[in-house]
Amino acid sequence: MAAEAPGEQDPALGCGESPNTKDPQSATNTPGEMDKPLISRRLVDSDASLAEAASGAPKVGILGTGDFARSLAARLVRSGFGVVVGSRNPKRTAGLFPAAAQVVFQVEAVDSSEVIFVAVFREHYSSLCGLSSQLAGKILVDVSNPTEQEHLQHRESNAEYLAALFPTCTVVKAFNVISAWTLQAGPRDGNRQVPICGDQPEAKRVVSELAHAMGFMPVDMGSLAAARELEARPLHLLPSWKVPAILALGLFIFFYAYNFIRDVLQPYVQEGKSKFYKLPLSVVNTSLPCVAYVLLSLVYLPGILAAALQLWRGTKYRRFPDWLDHWLQHRKQIGLLSFFCAALHALYSVCLPVRISYRYDLVNLAIKQVLTNKSHLWVEENVWRMEIYLSLGVLALGTLSLLAVTSLPSIANSLNWREFSFVQSTLGFVALVLSTLHTLTYGWTRAFEESRYKFYLPPTFTLTLLVPCVVILAKALLLLPCLSRRLSRIRRGWEKDSAVKFTLPGDHALGQKTSHL
Ligand code: NAP
Repeated sequence: MAAEAPGEQDPALGCGESPNTKDPQSATNTPGEMDKPLISRRLVDSDASLAEAASGAPKVGILGTGDFARSLAARLVRSGFGVVVGSRNPKRTAGLFPAAAQVVFQVEAVDSSEVIFVAVFREHYSSLCGLSSQLAGKILVDVSNPTEQEHLQHRESNAEYLAALFPTCTVVKAFNVISAWTLQAGPRDGNRQVPICGDQPEAKRVVSELAHAMGFMPVDMGSLAAARELEARPLHLLPSWKVPAILALGLFIFFYAYNFIRDVLQPYVQEGKSKFYKLPLSVVNTSLPCVAYVLLSLVYLPGILAAALQLWRGTKYRRFPDWLDHWLQHRKQIGLLSFFCAALHALYSVCLPVRISYRYDLVNLAIKQVLTNKSHLWVEENVWRMEIYLSLGVLALGTLSLLAVTSLPSIANSLNWREFSFVQSTLGFVALVLSTLHTLTYGWTRAFEESRYKFYLPPTFTLTLLVPCVVILAKALLLLPCLSRRLSRIRRGWEKDSAVKFTLPGDHALGQKTSHL
């Protein structure tokens, strides 16, 4: 078993058997941190809905007077509940709560309600042991979240620890994924769900109804054993973004280094010119579109690989390899990162003429023109190229923004499957084609000019074109009637061998079992 944290009660003993049970009322205060209210006094005073509790309203108890307790009390009062808050020092904290909430000593709060939220940290659970006889038979709602270190240190969840300390109570884990801020502001679309777990269905029902009355959506996660998983949730840091973010960062580093060698190092080494001023803006701006473009093509590449695999296997009833499965699942994040880089590229490009180096270049060009007696500088081909190039870029970014907007859950939920796949698949592909044309018009004839091959390195745009062009050609190939018809038949359940094949786990020797469905 993991080592006990300092100040923790041995849960095996339970509260009553603790040799060191302290009187919770006599525990020392921690000055300073509690002086700053999350809900300002003025807000509490000015909000009439928080001034008075309805007479006869069901009462809910809260132990603790911190950020979470204050927001929870305000939400409960707004939802029509009577609130009794238990503090070690009610005189000091009463002013931070809505007038409708009673702030009393812990023991009084526990006496006056059947459902009690424990809004204190795990390390202070044992300081509540003096209340165990008053708490007997009541529902304790554990809202706590461990730190990453605590989560690794303790094998049992905070909720299980609380249940072991108070064996005569029913512990329900809930609301830990809801922040004090959300409680204060009220439930919103994205964070309305409140996962709930506990060993007694009746207690879970009571807490679920409470969550529902507060405007949240309770989700039953099963027994108290699920608490550990619930407590791990707020510790996750964007798990589905990890691989796409690393991919985007890796591509950025690669293209930044490549552009640095070509645009800064080469002029310095071969011509003695210092172009290091390009590092913060110009090199970043030439790297960002490369990342955006390659990422966009990587959104569509796994779909093509999956289609090719299905055509080759002649069935859709076999799992894709894990790497392809993961890739397919991360397409949304890769697409959004592509949009992010493209949007940054657009912003950086707008800033280009503001640079002082650009103005110097312009003035120098004008002086050069005067000196060479050229009165009118106008290259028709360059003018056309630039107009088309910019227009295609704007169109590509506009289409990409549509994709980004429709990936928001509130918008995606308002579309049917056909509309969603039209935007994500067809329009997404249009964005890829527009970006390719944007890149090609940028390149124009530059790919064939010898001077562009600095240090024998091809221009960056020729590199970036590789993957997207492969994707576009492969997609065009899949549109050929002979392939597209076969693919759509496979996706409707047709199989090459008219049989569904299963591979038994770990049974490679037996090969594949065939079942005719
Ligand atoms: P906090 O601001 O530090 O408040 C903790 C409260 O615990 C104090 O106000 C204190 O109230 C009470 N307490 C009881 N016994 C204590 C003792 N022996 N020593 C120190 N304090 C004691 O913390 P919080 O942010 O409200 O978080 C409370 C719980 O809610 C934690 O378990 C946290 O993981 C969970 N939670 C918080 C949030 C959030 O957004 N803040 C979100 C989800 C879950 P008295 O001094 O009046 O007794």
